[in-house]
Amino acid sequence: MPIYEYKCRKCGTKFELLQNISGTNKDVICPKCGASCPVKQFSVFASSSDVKTECTEGVCPTCNLS
Ligand SMILES: [Zn+2]
Repeated sequence: MPIYEYKCRKCGTKFELLQNISGTNKDVICPKCGASCPVKQFSVFASSSDVKTECTEGVCPTCNLS
């Protein structure tokens, strides 16, 4: 599994997470403040089709921004 680097939208904390390539950011929680849906940084794997980080299901309290 690749290691992804995330940056929390809320507090700005950067952290790395070993995650299945099919995983989504909605399952990722900031270890510092507990906010969900951090921004995926793609430090290891680069994808031309999935650069934009988004929540795909339900309502996200932290990234439901217009
Ligand atoms: Zn945070």
